[in-house]
Amino acid sequence: MKKILRIDLSKRQFVFEDVSTAYATLGGRGLTSKIVSEEVPAKADPLGKDNKVVFAPGILASTPAPNNGRLSVGAKSPLTHTIKETNAGGAAAQKLARLGIKAIVVENIASELTMIKVSKGGVSFQSAEALKGKGNHEVISRLKAEHGEGVAIISIGPAGEQLLSAASVSVTSPDFAVRMAARGGIGAVMGSKKLKALVIDDAGTGEVEVNDKEKLRQAAAALSKGILSHPLIEGLRQLGTPVLVMMMNGLGGLPTKNYSLGQFEGAENISGEFMVQTMAKRPNSKAVHRCMQGCIVSCSNIYTDEEGKEIVSGLEYETVGLIGSNCLISDLDDVARINRLCNDLGLDTMEVGASIAVAMEAGLLPWGDSKGAYALVEEVGRGTEKGKMIGSGCLVTGQKLGVKRIPQVKGQSLAGYDPRVLKGTGVTYATSPMGADHTCGNAFPSPANPSYDPTASTGQAIVSGFLQCYNAAIDTLGMCLFPALPLLDIPELQKFLIACAIAVTGEPFDENYLLKLGAFVLNTEKKFNQAAGFTNKDDRLPEFFVREQLPPSGLIFDVSEEEIDTALRF
Ligand code: SF4
Repeated sequence: MKKILRIDLSKRQFVFEDVSTAYATLGGRGLTSKIVSEEVPAKADPLGKDNKVVFAPGILASTPAPNNGRLSVGAKSPLTHTIKETNAGGAAAQKLARLGIKAIVVENIASELTMIKVSKGGVSFQSAEALKGKGNHEVISRLKAEHGEGVAIISIGPAGEQLLSAASVSVTSPDFAVRMAARGGIGAVMGSKKLKALVIDDAGTGEVEVNDKEKLRQAAAALSKGILSHPLIEGLRQLGTPVLVMMMNGLGGLPTKNYSLGQFEGAENISGEFMVQTMAKRPNSKAVHRCMQGCIVSCSNIYTDEEGKEIVSGLEYETVGLIGSNCLISDLDDVARINRLCNDLGLDTMEVGASIAVAMEAGLLPWGDSKGAYALVEEVGRGTEKGKMIGSGCLVTGQKLGVKRIPQVKGQSLAGYDPRVLKGTGVTYATSPMGADHTCGNAFPSPANPSYDPTASTGQAIVSGFLQCYNAAIDTLGMCLFPALPLLDIPELQKFLIACAIAVTGEPFDENYLLKLGAFVLNTEKKFNQAAGFTNKDDRLPEFFVREQLPPSGLIFDVSEEEIDTALRF
């Protein structure tokens, strides 16, 4: 029987609680949002003792269902001041599931920097003062040496310790690469609790409990086969997520020069194609890599320098878009090095990229100055005023530097898709309970749905609302979004995913399970935000997306406010 592990850091106490009926069929984002909404006062200080940080594997974690190992991390966000869930791949979620843990709820504030170890034997607490100020790479290396190769490590870097709102949570992959639950500053919530790291050790555990193993095996096999038949998967495997660089550039929606252009003349040099050609010439680079056991897509990579030394794993589209084209930086090695530094300091590369571009717009450093950008991020590690500004996100950076064009919603920076070209994504940026977040519902053009026009000024709210429901359900199952995309083009595959959930839980979910689950999660999150004081006036894109025509298309974001307000009415 799975348990909730509740940890009181101030007393160094823990208890394993039975799972209430209300939580029984939830996992991942659904569970973190349910717990945060019930246990954290909506108006709580995100960095105060009343906030809690919740770690939850999804419903399907560590089962034969494909790509099931995302770890959700939830809290009230110091960046958006909304409820927040951010998730990452890696090994931690599957290990927690094997330990029979449905969620870890961390409460209160430790008296010193602390590391928690969770294993079959229980929970132990250890001082982490020796890791104070250390970057994620050193933390991971030291904890791996101390606890062995079989553990997963969740940690924060100096940005989290400094309580900066762009601080991320690092989760190790099976080969100890850094994956990031990047968004919303949840690393700062860990820092506010003086929680430097968790070590998850599943030694001595067996398979997770499932209701019907044979039905699960059959449904998972049919689901995997269907996913692999979709052409998108081959593109992701060959070029990784940077496959999107040339696609978004072609659509005229690649964020460029602080979202003032939709195409970047240096796009080819930061493209997936260029990345793969570069890696082919470099020792130890890997264009195909997976961040978790059971991944059937392998979109990740290991990007090395000319000597074969790893710079970063993996180099992703969002980082390339926000730190590359959006800052007019066209040297992929430089982007990768800034990515590594952000990973080490424990920073969201998207938020940092948006902050640097805003700083470039203010004239703090020249456009395209990759060395200056690297030096600016280094200042985060040194705790200087400029470092604190960049590490607090693009809204704070823009306000401090007097910049009017700040690409954020509810305090969180937009991702790598200009909303004037992908207007359904624009509605998601505006209305998501999480702030501007592409993983909540990214509306792409699709050959399977030729009648959908992402540039049309009407019909976007219904698309965004549907996708936000679907993605909230996928985040609750703990599945990676990439293998979930083919299920949108081939809806009959959804029945195999639902069959997996039925086989795991024994619940009689119907064909509308995913949308009903997603609507439940979104309504839970919206209710929290409303109690925190948010209204539909907060569900708006910055004015410049509405007023400024985006070259070369000349498009503006012209979805009406009346339509935007219907997106999450379920
Ligand atoms: S598809 Fe990519 S992000 Fe998803 S689990 Fe596999 S390697 Fe990780």
